[in-house]
Amino acid sequence: MGYLFKNISIITIDSNKPEVIIGDLLVEGSKISKIGTKIPKSAHKVIEGKNLLVMPGFINTHAHVSMSLLRGYGDDLELFEWLSSRIWPIESKLTKKDVYIGAKLGIAEMILSGTTTFLDMYQDMEMVGKACQEIGIRGHISRGTIYTGNEKLDHAALLQLEELIDQYHNYDDGRIKVLAGPHAIYTNNKEFLKAQLEIANRRNIGVNIHVSETEKENEDALLTLGKTPISYLDEIGLLDAPYVVASHMVYLTEEDQLIVKNKNIGIAHNPKSNLKLGSGIANIQKYRNKGINVGIGTDGAASNNNLDMLNELQYASLLQKGLNRDATALSAFETLKMATIGGAKVLNINDRVGMLKEGYDADLIMFDMNQPHFYPIENSHISKIVYSAKSSDIVLTMVKGKILMRNRDLTTIDLEKTYKEVSKIMERVYKEND
Ligand SMILES: [Zn+2]
Repeated sequence: MGYLFKNISIITIDSNKPEVIIGDLLVEGSKISKIGTKIPKSAHKVIEGKNLLVMPGFINTHAHVSMSLLRGYGDDLELFEWLSSRIWPIESKLTKKDVYIGAKLGIAEMILSGTTTFLDMYQDMEMVGKACQEIGIRGHISRGTIYTGNEKLDHAALLQLEELIDQYHNYDDGRIKVLAGPHAIYTNNKEFLKAQLEIANRRNIGVNIHVSETEKENEDALLTLGKTPISYLDEIGLLDAPYVVASHMVYLTEEDQLIVKNKNIGIAHNPKSNLKLGSGIANIQKYRNKGINVGIGTDGAASNNNLDMLNELQYASLLQKGLNRDATALSAFETLKMATIGGAKVLNINDRVGMLKEGYDADLIMFDMNQPHFYPIENSHISKIVYSAKSSDIVLTMVKGKILMRNRDLTTIDLEKTYKEVSKIMERVYKEND
């Protein structure tokens, strides 16, 4: 017995199919077993109704889910001041359990806004792994590192990465993956980066790192290393890791772009976070024209301030049009591809998610288009998903064939309980801050 989506609009993202088809989609076990018409209802649970649309779930290529606890704390500051005067001091007060509760809050928001996969970087990542394990979302988790100069602490961070791999990598047939997560070049020295690269190569995992987020990062790198961040990472061999996800990449020279293309580096583009922290606007249109692979990310809720991919898609597309003074830049369909199959390519899982295709994992979402902002219903659904839809129009989120949200109710998270736990944490942390 499976789930049969019947007589609905389907955006498959599969380039061999029309952009939107009307038909049936059958999920059996964790996989999409059939897409067609007139699939017999048999003993399947049938999901049908007027004006429903199914598409692949969003892939959030850059997040810090537990930072949901810091939403609304320390806004309107530039990156370095924000990190050092607000974020890092309060983060040092968070316990492992806090990170777990923060992850639950962030993942709840993501499931409700149609995200089925996310790539995360933070401390105490075993707690984020535990949350993914329990909740059922597809989570790629990276152990964020900052070089401290304290041999014991730094060694422990590397050990924690190895333990994280032992405990979570490829859990549930690859639903959870582990990556190394050196925070950035300005928070890690060469030896520490190389130590993490050695682990990535030996354990065959990816590397997740912030690169060229601000103009200052590039200027400092040129001043102290005589190189741009990307050419420095290339020189020390980090770009030859099994795969690399570089987030932000706002400031890339022509030479950097060539390196990124040649080394097949995936970019996580975070338009809202880059705007909010005053970092700038990455010229994604230009990167994509060069054949560079780009996905979309939200970054943490403290710099966005939400984890809503639909919102991010809208910013991504509109910003490229404005930046390039070109209304044809990053079309609705290209943006949708970036947020699905593009993200899957960045995370190296495009052979199993990112499209709706027979044999692929059933990671999908469903929109209820019975809303004023979807009418006239006869016009392009793709345009309306990207430019008009709200995440509250999403009425079903499924990962590996399991329904995690139906009719806006989460099936694996007790939200009220989570809210209470979050309030308890904040009361304690603020008291410690006094
Ligand atoms: Zn980040």
